[in-house]
Amino acid sequence: MAPEAIVANASIDAGIEGDVESGAIDPASLEITTVRTHTPLASQLITGVAIVAPIFGVLSVARLLWGVALHPLDLELFAIFYLLCGLGITVGFHRLFTHKSFVASQPVRIAFAILGSMTLQGPLTQWVTDHRKHHARSDQPGDPHSPNLGGPTWFGHVRGFYHGHMGWLFSEKGLERGEIYGRDLFNDPVIRLIDRLYFVWVAVSVGLPFLIAYLITGSTERGVEALVWAGLVRIFLFQHATFAVNSVCHTWGRRPFVTGDRSTNNVVVAMLTFGEGWHNNHHAFPRSARHGLATTQFDLSYLTIAAMTKLHLATELRLPTAAQLERIARTGE
Ligand SMILES: [Zn+2]
Ligand SMILES: [Zn+2]
Repeated sequence: MAPEAIVANASIDAGIEGDVESGAIDPASLEITTVRTHTPLASQLITGVAIVAPIFGVLSVARLLWGVALHPLDLELFAIFYLLCGLGITVGFHRLFTHKSFVASQPVRIAFAILGSMTLQGPLTQWVTDHRKHHARSDQPGDPHSPNLGGPTWFGHVRGFYHGHMGWLFSEKGLERGEIYGRDLFNDPVIRLIDRLYFVWVAVSVGLPFLIAYLITGSTERGVEALVWAGLVRIFLFQHATFAVNSVCHTWGRRPFVTGDRSTNNVVVAMLTFGEGWHNNHHAFPRSARHGLATTQFDLSYLTIAAMTKLHLATELRLPTAAQLERIARTGE
């Protein structure tokens, strides 16, 4: 570097420090340092292959086991349990209990609380508390599962991503038992009872596929087979799909709305989680019952809520107005 350049850089650095001290520059603005406006295409392609390739491995194993240790009944039960328990999280735990984006009667609330508990993501009040903390502190210190606080190095990014995906479950999960962020649920005796019975719902989640398959086929072996595919494998896949909302959807994807965090819309995660992957939309409009705000953004959870309104099972849906959509996309306020 030429001596003049060194002098020039030194004066720039000195100038910034001086302005910070004099209060002319907001110190918080200096922390937002990035050399790119979005993830490069090559990186997105590599990530896409890394996510998709293992799926083909699982499918090839399923093909090898077809007719031996995997039957159509297993797939049917897998689909039914993945759908119903998954909606327990997306419609129930998230949009109903955490964000109150619609109103439902007590029997409907109880049904969603139990279905969500059957995904083994923890008791309802704990889940809601952690998620409300995430919204209150998104990608800032205090966010229980930000993938963006691991540090600026390559290893820091990897460590941060692991923390956002599942590391936080071992260090940040359930620290407050709902006493601050989940007070409304903590004080609800019915919800408290459902939470106290959490391990009953865990047993139902793996036991019910076994029982159904056993009653249909009369075979213990086929019951165990259904327990594995529609119980354990289904729980495993939906857990990581949900974890990906916290990790992938704060790392890769588009950000159509101006929000004070790193949330993104990611179509792959959105498909696996019934619309929860439209996560930048969600951070822009946390109380909206609809996350897939564009007509091309498939949102099965919202379609479910919309169908529930027709059956009078859901009322008072909260949705952003056209003016709010335009304003947040432009200014974030
Ligand atoms: Zn988020
Ligand atoms: Zn949320």
